[in-house]
Amino acid sequence: MNPWIAKAVVLAGTLTMIAIRAPHGRRSRSVKVAKSHKTPLETGLLVLVWVGFFVPLIWLASPVLSFAEYPLTLGPLITGVMCFVVGLWLFYRSHADLGTNWSISLEVREQHRLITQGVYYRIRHPMYSALVLYSLGHALVIPNWVACPANLVAFAILFTLRVHAEEQMMSDTFGDEYATYAARTKRLVPGVW
Ligand code: SAH
Repeated sequence: MNPWIAKAVVLAGTLTMIAIRAPHGRRSRSVKVAKSHKTPLETGLLVLVWVGFFVPLIWLASPVLSFAEYPLTLGPLITGVMCFVVGLWLFYRSHADLGTNWSISLEVREQHRLITQGVYYRIRHPMYSALVLYSLGHALVIPNWVACPANLVAFAILFTLRVHAEEQMMSDTFGDEYATYAARTKRLVPGVW
């Protein structure tokens, strides 16, 4: 199959993700941070995720990664598109449900509320589930050994090194309310884990 189909899918996914995130990024700058848990590790992880985000765009826009191309096939393309669609929907919903409590990093905002409804009802990290699906979409759709795993590897490292610190921060902030919430929810997959 023509690899430009994969390029069109990745471009559409990237633009949709930027369109979902942009208004929240702008709005979050106007909500004061009560407590920041931004460590050098956290900054390094965010840089890594940006690299994972840009490598597929380099594949998309230039021939520098062409040495690592392989043929695009229909099965992975269709499965990848489904991952993109569900992932981007969940990305949109998790931003809508978190509202002004969202931060790109580990931060507690002034008047921070614990969100336990909407897509947060059964899982504690729906935005991360969305990013897993989005990066799986990349891994399946991009027919290039360098670009296809970039998002997934970067996000897996961020998730592994961040999730305990984030849950500790939420537990320190919300105490029993968070303990009760954590006890009745799973992390990424409803009813599973
Ligand atoms: N881990 C969550 C949120 C990612 S954004 C998810 O995957 O959906 C990270 C910020 O969201 C954290 O700094 C924290 O301040 C905030 N946050 C995480 N879970 C929250 C919740 N249930 N309610 C309110 N804020 C939350």
